[in-house]
Amino acid sequence: MKKITALMLSSAMMLSLAACGGSASTDAVSSEAASSEAVSSEAATSEAGAEAAELTTVNAGKLTMSTNAEFPPYETTTDSGELEGIDIDVAAAVAEKLGLELQVDDMDFDAALLAAQNGKSDMVMAGVTVTDERLKVMDFSDTYAEGIQSIIVKEDSPIASPDDLADKMIGTQRGTTGYIYCSDDFGDDHVTPYDSGLTAVQALVNGQVDAVVIDNAPAKEFVKANPGLKILDTAYAQEDYAIGVAKGNTELLNAINGALEELEADGTLQAIVGKYITAE
Ligand code: GLN
Repeated sequence: MKKITALMLSSAMMLSLAACGGSASTDAVSSEAASSEAVSSEAATSEAGAEAAELTTVNAGKLTMSTNAEFPPYETTTDSGELEGIDIDVAAAVAEKLGLELQVDDMDFDAALLAAQNGKSDMVMAGVTVTDERLKVMDFSDTYAEGIQSIIVKEDSPIASPDDLADKMIGTQRGTTGYIYCSDDFGDDHVTPYDSGLTAVQALVNGQVDAVVIDNAPAKEFVKANPGLKILDTAYAQEDYAIGVAKGNTELLNAINGALEELEADGTLQAIVGKYITAE
């Protein structure tokens, strides 16, 4: 069986993020995004923002982000219909740095990737993993977080490691690296793609699949919400998350990277992650 190895990009690209940042700057990035509604952000003067005036975006004066708000804690929809999460807050902070108004468009994960590729959105943020295949069709910012593909099983499952997944039925979210890796390793016949990670987990609870392969942070949330499930200690793959833009949109990419760098330097990124993911 082909072994999954880490897909880590060069560590020089990685913005070091501690999951235990202080809360000093969280106020600057309040998440009030709602699907297809503009989020007001006061223009901030910053180096990144100085160049923003010349930025051409999909909707003038706005930074349009496509996402799939079914991926807690990176993006999720609250009971009152608001979008919140790490990506929403980071996007709001980036937009503020660039002097643009953030607009978030919620759609399926594969559609969110395509929207950025086809210039329907300025960028996709959806806990998107940088992969060689995706790099052929879109460009990525510097990495702003790390992800791990985890395996969720029932508490009494005989599956104890990635090798035990052979000949089992695996649930994943459609279009995700979980789906891509599992179908490469175990064959399409052994992987069922679901609309969302949550529906894949529900299929596991109902006994329709034997395991779910999904990113670690949502995995923890889904396991917490569904008694009788556990996450295996052995990770399936390690990944980097980044912001995806249309191939060749260097101007926007440079502006985003400049904003990310400033947000890392002033502690905002760490504070956002710390707000949603508590250190263990
Ligand atoms: N990190 C995974 C990927 O990029 C899953 C992302 C998601 O489901 N939102 O494919």
